[in-house]
Amino acid sequence: AEANVGVVGLAAMGGSLARNLAHHGNKVAVFNRSWGRTEKLMAEHGSEGEFYPAKTMEEFVASLSKPRTAIIMVKAGEPTDSMINQLADLMEPGDIIVDAGNAHFPDTIRREKAISARGLHFVGCGVSGGEEGALKGPSMMPGGTKESWETLKPILESIVAKAEGEPCVTYIGANGAGHFVKMVHNGIEYSDMQLIAESYDLMRRGLGMSPSEIGDVFEAWNHTELESYLVEITAEVLHETDKKTGKPLVDVIVDHAGMKGTGTWTVQTALDLAVPVTGIAEAVFARGLSSQGELREEALKQHFEAGRSGLESMPLEERQAFVNDIREALYASKIVAYAQGFNEITAAAKEYGWDIDLAAVARIWRGGCIIRAKFLNLISDAFESGEANVSLLFAPYFKDALETADRSWRRVVSRAVNFGIPVPVFSSSLAYFDGLRSDRLPAALIQGQRDFFGAHTYQRTDEPGVFHTLWAEPGREEIKES
Ligand code: NDP
Repeated sequence: AEANVGVVGLAAMGGSLARNLAHHGNKVAVFNRSWGRTEKLMAEHGSEGEFYPAKTMEEFVASLSKPRTAIIMVKAGEPTDSMINQLADLMEPGDIIVDAGNAHFPDTIRREKAISARGLHFVGCGVSGGEEGALKGPSMMPGGTKESWETLKPILESIVAKAEGEPCVTYIGANGAGHFVKMVHNGIEYSDMQLIAESYDLMRRGLGMSPSEIGDVFEAWNHTELESYLVEITAEVLHETDKKTGKPLVDVIVDHAGMKGTGTWTVQTALDLAVPVTGIAEAVFARGLSSQGELREEALKQHFEAGRSGLESMPLEERQAFVNDIREALYASKIVAYAQGFNEITAAAKEYGWDIDLAAVARIWRGGCIIRAKFLNLISDAFESGEANVSLLFAPYFKDALETADRSWRRVVSRAVNFGIPVPVFSSSLAYFDGLRSDRLPAALIQGQRDFFGAHTYQRTDEPGVFHTLWAEPGREEIKES
């Protein structure tokens, strides 16, 4: 028993993670269901560090020193359950099983319960950064017992990305907390990407700019408060030319956005928790709409009158001002999407009894992961100081940013509507902001309607208690129900 950590599942993610562990001085046991993958990894990368390849699960477990720590990186769902059970049958109390796949957090809660009942530690660990992140430094979000974190901390800290010198991993909370936070990370990623896409669409179809001109704009934006990995790669994607046709690559790519489910989970869970995550929801629905091929084809055949653009004929100065408006709107909408995502984490923490440090979550998202961005520093400061206790939107820095963006945000949404360019996340984020800051909402009318047709009762602004109006009775009396 020599290895201090093991990896089960050596496909793209697991193989990279195992190599990353070995690169940082860990002694790494490796096992894969089919030996061929293990053999290949050893042939290509075996010399990069100290590996202990195992042909069987028995051999794998025997090669681990105690407390044994095994990280599972296989297909989510049944394969993960199968690997967990095989490990649990061979391990001893105090050993640690880490599931670093993309599990849905209720599965993690279920698994943790079953495994901890057997005296073992089960850690559901969110990993972000894709294959390259796994190899060079991901952002990691482990959830489980504090005791297992003591063992895992030095191992994970050795391999994660560093942001301003700090490792991008922190203990998130009990059982499913890590996978929950990773899920919301992905939801936020959906809204970030959609907002960038809406900005692109406004410049492309609205202002008639070329992909490479728009790429230049994103490159410039990457030196502003929008500095982030996603803005950076957007510029690269837009500058790419298709080798076959010589056209901008983005024009050759089919415009149906795919998804694997984490965005949908974020929205489904938010609905269960009654937290409005409108930015993320619209981003998920926008991907869904893009992939409704038949519906879109039929809509095109109907020759609906298109929105009027006319933006192309704008004087240069006004065009530049509009591009600036788009940048402001993007920033404001992004702030709203993050505020909503963090609200979802807060609500879940309450529901599931997790003690989640939001400032620490923002800090570990600064490096390694897909949504890494400079502005996460500001978010972590806002949570650290308590200024964002109710919502990120009310922390002074973000409040100022929203106020600064206000006019631009409205111009972008109204112009987009006029021109017939869909901006679901820009506009729903603005609606969320306007909804929050309204002193009176038409919800009062809805309560009246509900009382009318269903006697659902309502509360009054001037008196405590629950009321019902006898709508059909002469004189329409009001009765106090309690
Ligand atoms: P895949 O999801 O493609 O899974 C392949 C691995 O799963 C192989 O090692 C395969 O073994 C193993 N496997 C499949 N079925 C079984 C089974 N029934 N029993 C045992 N092992 C099985 O691999 P990835 O590396 O892409 O992803 C691994 C995990 O990481 C997934 O949960 C994924 O969601 C998650 N993830 C992926 C990210 C990414 O960017 N790709 C990012 C973050 C997380 P065999 O070689 O024998 O077929």
